[in-house]
Order: sequence, then C-alpha cells, then structure tokens
Amino acid sequence: MKEKKVCVMWIGAHPDDESQCSGTLAKFATNGHRAVICVVSKAEKGSLVIPPDELVPIRDKEMREAAKILGAEYYGNLGETDLEVSATNELIHKIVKAIREVRPDIVITHWERDYQRDHISTSRAVTHAVLCANHPLYDPGISSAIVQRLYYSDTASGLDFDPEFWIDVSDVEEIKLKSLEAHESQVKFMGRAGDFVEARRIHDRFRGLQVGCRYAEAFKATRRRSFLRAELGPFKSLVRMP
Ligand SMILES: [Zn+2]
Repeated sequence: MKEKKVCVMWIGAHPDDESQCSGTLAKFATNGHRAVICVVSKAEKGSLVIPPDELVPIRDKEMREAAKILGAEYYGNLGETDLEVSATNELIHKIVKAIREVRPDIVITHWERDYQRDHISTSRAVTHAVLCANHPLYDPGISSAIVQRLYYSDTASGLDFDPEFWIDVSDVEEIKLKSLEAHESQVKFMGRAGDFVEARRIHDRFRGLQVGCRYAEAFKATRRRSFLRAELGPFKSLVRMP
C-alpha cells in the first residue's frame, strides 16, 4: 500500500536548533513528505560582533537557506525576543495560528528540560498550542487543526534526555551537516567552544551507536495525551530501537 503523505513541522526557539532533528526533516522531505520549520525567536543575540538589528535578517536568510538544503519550507519566525522567550498566552496564540495555517500531522519541538530558557519555554508553549489548535472555541478566527503526533527532540548536548525512539538518518547526515553550515553566523558564534558542525556529527554518531546504525536522531513522545503518542504513525518505518 502506498504510504500516505504527511506534514511534519518543527517549531524551535532559534534558527539552527532544527539540527536537533533536521536529519529526520530531510528524510521526510526526500521521501516526498512535507517538512516545515517555524522559529519562535528573532535570535538577535546570537553574535558578539554583529549588532542585534543587523543580525535578525542575517539569521532569517541563513534559516531560509538551511531549510532549502533540507528540502523543507521555512514558515518564518514568530518575533519573540532572544533569551526572553516565555510560554505566554500571546506566544501560544502565535503558535496555534502557525499550526492552523500549516496543518501538520506531526509536530516536533524541544524537550522540556533542554539546556536553555528559550528552548524550555518553546517546548511548553508548543505543547499547550497543539491542544489549543484542536479546540474550535480557541481563537475561532481560523479553523481548528488536529495534530496527530507530538514529539520532542534530543537536547542540545544529549544530556538529561533518555530517548524513547531513534530515527536512522545515516543516508541524509551529509545533507543535514551542509544545512547546518548554512547558519554561518552561528558556526562562528557557537564555534567559539569548538567545531559546531563536527560536534553535531559526533552527537548523531553517538545516537547511531546506541541503535546500531551510523547516524541517528533521538526522540521522545508526549505523555500529555494518549492520542498524541498512541503509535508512531508515519515514523514507524524509520524507527530504530536498541
Ligand atoms: Zn537555541
């Protein structure tokens, strides 16, 4: 039977955070599914040399290019202030609007215990928004959208994250790393502590070792509502377990 085409949407705090699952996004895109990236923050504080006002369009352009390499669409950024993201009603509203416009089957966001405030707040806001998006009385201006699955991606360093399932991304790892390189300003900024792109490769290699493949990305499913984690749906054929 032919596999149903699905839409997977990543909602993350900053451009480049999609690298926590961009191999999976590329995998869906190369298999004819739809992958969409939405960024919450303007990410204006991601440089010590480029002024914030100048950095916003640069990071937006880099994100657009990175998405293109993955074969994904870039929804845009939701305009939140970098390092000050909170799971406010206003942000949940914006995320619900994005979900209702894109109408994804699957949403992926940060794990709620990731290392940084913007990631944690985005995780909370997305978790709330997925349920609100489904309720016809929540902001009835745009018709409600049912998200079938909500997953959380690995943390930035893999710490404090006990994966429930893995996706083998060996065949798209090079695309993923090329996409990450498109975030040129961040390769410089985050690279102060070492090689940003190489660190991601090592991370994926480590996750791959856990399940017996070259490169993998790790995930958890939400525990908030059973219907959102009932089965792995379209992920099923890609999943690797130890
Ligand atoms: Zn981030």
